[in-house]
Amino acid sequence: MKNYKIAILAGDGIGPEITAEAVKILKLVEERNDVSFELTEALFGACAYFATGDAFPKETIEICDAADAILKGPIGLSHEESKNIPIDKQPERGALLPMRRRYNTYANFRPVSLPKELAHFSPLKAEIIGEGIDIVIVRELVGGLYFGKKEMGVDENGQRYVKETLEYTEAQIRQIMLKAFELSSSRKKVLHNIHKSNVLKSSVLWNEIMEEVAKGYPDVKVINLLVDAAATYLCLKPTEFDVMVMENMFGDILSDQAGGILGSLGLMPSACIGDDKAYYEPSHGSAPDIAGKNIANPYSMIGSVAMMLENSFDMQEEAKNVWAAMQGVFADGFSTADLSKPGAGVNMIGTVEFGDKVVEKLSKMPRV
Ligand code: NAD
Repeated sequence: MKNYKIAILAGDGIGPEITAEAVKILKLVEERNDVSFELTEALFGACAYFATGDAFPKETIEICDAADAILKGPIGLSHEESKNIPIDKQPERGALLPMRRRYNTYANFRPVSLPKELAHFSPLKAEIIGEGIDIVIVRELVGGLYFGKKEMGVDENGQRYVKETLEYTEAQIRQIMLKAFELSSSRKKVLHNIHKSNVLKSSVLWNEIMEEVAKGYPDVKVINLLVDAAATYLCLKPTEFDVMVMENMFGDILSDQAGGILGSLGLMPSACIGDDKAYYEPSHGSAPDIAGKNIANPYSMIGSVAMMLENSFDMQEEAKNVWAAMQGVFADGFSTADLSKPGAGVNMIGTVEFGDKVVEKLSKMPRV
């Protein structure tokens, strides 16, 4: 039997609610397979800051270092509440970026998937969704503006100023390109390279490296698209995309837009992969506006478990079962509150009920 250690970082806001549902699925997967999971919970984010004075405390670092994979809930506070934490200790700067840097999780995979049967959740017209949306956004996760040098101060004229630098090395671009081309080779062999080379020199280097890497993948057709145009096409022609690769900030923004075309960020799981370590998290934030109400959609968190099974534990077939169980619940006519308005002809269910229904469906599926 294989034994895996998993660090569970429930996070802030809706994090604990959706993590509880994801843990139910991990326990069921353990029951159904020849595998054992040792789950260790740890504080991460604003909750960790208030308990220990540090958003990524030493004890959490040790638990994550020892883990085979990390399941991370969303972190962060509302805009107003964030002001109660010093800027450099706030959840993203104090915990999330340090974790990405520590484990060099440079490749962020964000599936954007809506089968035709669930087209009613999308704000787009059915004819735009056609046979369904099935995109993977590959986002560079440890470089660019988010990781460059930062400076704030007052200049000689008494004006407050800020400087942030967008830096990439050739090696950083090459490693994410290789991941994107590999993925594209295993799918439809169409790769949209998202850039802004008409303005940013970082995109000029990005495109140069992309062309070098592309030579090793002659079967993959590359389509170059400016990031601003990509934002439009995601709404107008989402089915033309298969794999999209982009730098860190473009990926942050476009993947939230992608959540919008599906109908909710609650449908957006993700995998953050480095060469030695991976962690899994929803693409969205801690949704303080709906925390504690049992209305958050746990699909993003359970989907992150499915991605963990695929990427960290080589359990592809069971991962397919988890995806199918989740989509099956929606296909049966149920909806979480984020995806449908009252009176839409669906049966509204809460966070816990969605998790229970996924458990029910998965437990009836043949074991792999
Ligand atoms: P958000 O992603 O938390 O929420 C945006 C909207 O989507 C809200 O209306 C929210 O209710 C909804 N939403 C998000 N996830 C949902 C789910 N699973 N089910 C139903 N609805 C869902 O963005 P925000 O409000 O701008 O940010 C809140 C906090 O999250 C901030 O502190 C921000 O810094 C942080 N954040 C953290 C991460 C992370 O942990 N990786 C990512 C993004 C934002």
